[in-house]
Amino acid sequence: MKPRTPPGRIAYVDGRYSRHFEAGVHIEDRGLQFGDSVYEVCRVEYGALCDLSEHLDRLERSMREIAIPMPMSRGALTHVMGEVVRRNKVGYGLIYLQITRGCLRRDFQIPARCRPTVIMTAHELDRAIIAQRRSVGVKVVTLPDERWGRCDIKTTQLLAGSRAKTEARSRGAFEAWLVDGEGFVTEGASTNAWIVEGAGRIVTRNLSHAILPGVTRRVVLEAAAAQKMDVIERKFTPQDAAAAQEAFITSATGPAIPVVEIDGYRIGTGKPGAITGKIAEIYANISINRQT
Ligand code: PLP
Repeated sequence: MKPRTPPGRIAYVDGRYSRHFEAGVHIEDRGLQFGDSVYEVCRVEYGALCDLSEHLDRLERSMREIAIPMPMSRGALTHVMGEVVRRNKVGYGLIYLQITRGCLRRDFQIPARCRPTVIMTAHELDRAIIAQRRSVGVKVVTLPDERWGRCDIKTTQLLAGSRAKTEARSRGAFEAWLVDGEGFVTEGASTNAWIVEGAGRIVTRNLSHAILPGVTRRVVLEAAAAQKMDVIERKFTPQDAAAAQEAFITSATGPAIPVVEIDGYRIGTGKPGAITGKIAEIYANISINRQT
């Protein structure tokens, strides 16, 4: 069954711009059959791509890690991304970019040669919903991290995260914070996780194979350090989060969304905190100068 989409929407698939509801890949595409593909989600503001060079750096890294060759130059990719945004008339929204290993006879062994499939879609985001989350904050629940051992690669193997997000939503929470076998929070199902401890120390988990190196995480870390804010990259537990002054999540579609409750426990005052607000503000200020 195909999704219902507004008539004007355009997708880019394998070299062609086509109507969104007609776009598709072949049934033997390895992205479909093996989740053998990587992706990026980039925020669009005023029709421009935000933090693009960081997204392309991470895309290239993901592709290197699983040996998918770049199907086109960065310049060409940037051009197509801009075109997809333009053709979909996106002012404030997101662009989704996926690169699969391509269409090959089904075989578990990864083929030595391939011709990657490039897929792009773009759509508008509802600013009011994001503003509402920012002003009221969101709830999270903790769930076991059932994902694979290379969460640092942004692949489309998203079933475990998708199941966790669904469970969180069914319990009235916005996000699931995933917990590893040692009892530490790795990250959210589709966000990086942060807490603010006493005396204003900002904590987020250190990079490893256990978490995605979020683009927003990186930009926030750099911006906070430049402002001489106290930031540390280390593991924390759900108990640390429940005892924290503040908590927040970051992702390209929602930089610095306050978290006000974890597993039913109020965090701090139960309202979005001042440090989260400052992070959101400095991120907004620098992101204006980082658009392509
Ligand atoms: N962690 C996971 C598991 C994600 O899926 C995402 C975004 O999709 C993030 C973190 C946030 O990354 P970014 O800031 O690059 O959007």
